[in-house]
Amino acid sequence: MENIILSPGKYIQGSMAIENIASHAGKKALVIADDFVMNLTKEKISKSFSDKEIDVDFELFNGECSKKEVSRIKEKIETFNSKIIIGVGGGKTLDTAKAVAYYTELPVIIAPTIASTDAPCSALSVLYTEDGVFDEYLLLPNNPNIVLMDTDIISKAPARLIVSGMGDALATYFEARSCAQSNAKNMGGGLPTGAALTLARLCYDTILSEGYMAYNSAKSKVSTKSLENVVEANTYLSGVGFESGGLAAAHAIHNGLTLLEDCHHLYHGEKVAFGTLVQLILENAPQEEFFDVLNFCISVGLPTNLEDMGVKEIDEKLIMEVAKASCAPGETIHNMPFLVTPEKVFAAILTADRIGKENR
Ligand SMILES: [Zn+2]
Repeated sequence: MENIILSPGKYIQGSMAIENIASHAGKKALVIADDFVMNLTKEKISKSFSDKEIDVDFELFNGECSKKEVSRIKEKIETFNSKIIIGVGGGKTLDTAKAVAYYTELPVIIAPTIASTDAPCSALSVLYTEDGVFDEYLLLPNNPNIVLMDTDIISKAPARLIVSGMGDALATYFEARSCAQSNAKNMGGGLPTGAALTLARLCYDTILSEGYMAYNSAKSKVSTKSLENVVEANTYLSGVGFESGGLAAAHAIHNGLTLLEDCHHLYHGEKVAFGTLVQLILENAPQEEFFDVLNFCISVGLPTNLEDMGVKEIDEKLIMEVAKASCAPGETIHNMPFLVTPEKVFAAILTADRIGKENR
C-alpha cells in the first residue's frame, strides 16, 4: 500500500491577509459569505480586487450547505462567468464553496473567519437538507487550492470558538498514533507519511505549550504569536494531521455523544476533547499523558466530564447506547490497534468522567 499525504495547494496565514486576497486569486472571482461575514469583509475584499484591477462579484450565502444552495451558487458562477470561487466565513459557507468548486471544476479559496475545527483544509463537504438535517458526505477528489487565514479577523471571534478548535486538534496526534500502530488507512486510502505524523505531533505540542496563552489573547480579542501558532495548529497541522494520519476512537466517541440531547449545545471540538480523554483511558495511555491532556482542558475551559458537557444525571443505559453508537460498523474506532467493544468504551467513558470530575 502507498503512503499518501493530502493537503491544500497553498496555506496562507497572517494579520490582514484578506487584504491581499486578490493577488492570490489572480482572476475574476465570486465571493460567497453570510450576512454577518459579508458586512465584516466585503469592503476589504472589494478594495483588494479593485487595486489589482480584477473583477469580483459577491453573493450572500443563504445559511445552509444544501444541494439546492450549491446549485444556486453554481448558476451565479455561470451568470457572472467567474473563474474562481472564494468562500469566506464558517464551516457551512466553506463547505458550500468547496462543493460548488467541485461541480463547476473551478479553483477555490477557503478563507475561514474562525479557527474552530480542522475541516477547512480537507477534501470533504458535509451536505445538509434545507431543514438542516445531515444529508451526505461529499468526498472531493481534491483539497482546496488555497486556504487563507486572516488572524486579525480570527482573533476577534468569540474565544470559545478557538478553544473548540483546540479540542478538535487535541485528538489529532493520538488518533494518528493509533492509526499508525494498526496500519489503518488514512482519508486518502493510504498509509501516513512521516511528514503527516510529524505535523500531528507538532500540532499536539503547540496546543499544549501555547494554547493557554492563545486562549487569553482570544479573550482579549488580540492576535499574538501564540494565537497565530494555535490558529495554524487548529487549521493546518490538525487538518493535514487528521486527513493524512487517520481518525480513531476520539472522533467515534464524539459521534456517539451526539446521541445525548444534553450535549446538543456543544461545539464539535468540545465533544472531541472529552472523546480524547476517553480514548486515552481506552488505550491505557500513561497516566502522565492523560493528566497532561486533562490539565490542559481544564486550563482553557474544555469539558473533562459529562457534567461539564451538560449531562445532569448519568443514565448508564444511555451511556451504553453512546458506547454502542461509537462502535457502529464503519466507525473510525475500529482503527484502534486492538479489538474495541461497546463494553470497553462504556468503561472508559465512566472512568474518564470520574477522573475529570474529581480533578476539577
Ligand atoms: Zn474533528
